[in-house]
Amino acid sequence: MTRRATCCCGQCTIDVDGEPEINGVCHCLNCKKRTGSAFGWSAYFADSQIRNRRGDVAVYAIGGAKTQKRWFCRNCGSTLFWKAAARPGLTGVAGGCFADIPLDAPSVTVSNDGRCAWVGLPEEWRRSF
Ligand SMILES: [Zn+2]
Ligand SMILES: [Zn+2]
Repeated sequence: MTRRATCCCGQCTIDVDGEPEINGVCHCLNCKKRTGSAFGWSAYFADSQIRNRRGDVAVYAIGGAKTQKRWFCRNCGSTLFWKAAARPGLTGVAGGCFADIPLDAPSVTVSNDGRCAWVGLPEEWRRSF
């Protein structure tokens, strides 16, 4: 199965084959600010699962302990995918950007110290990866 993730305006897309190696949510401040939401939903695919990338993306690079590059649509600003130094060989894709064929439910929750008190999640989800 090939899924397509799309930015808000639809100009930028990334296609991925198969299921993500990691499908999780993260409650760190970086993910909260990236999404403007209570947590980030991140799907990490092996680089070999990445197919076509289209659209006019710009990159935002973060150094230091959380070294990563995030690609976002120049038109609408949606962060669509990223590479993190801590996860070599994997490409993160914004979980909410898979609209036509949604991802399965996440199975992992990380950075739980930053979790908003009102966010309830299933007990069976793994607490780290
Ligand atoms: Zn866009
Ligand atoms: Zn995070």
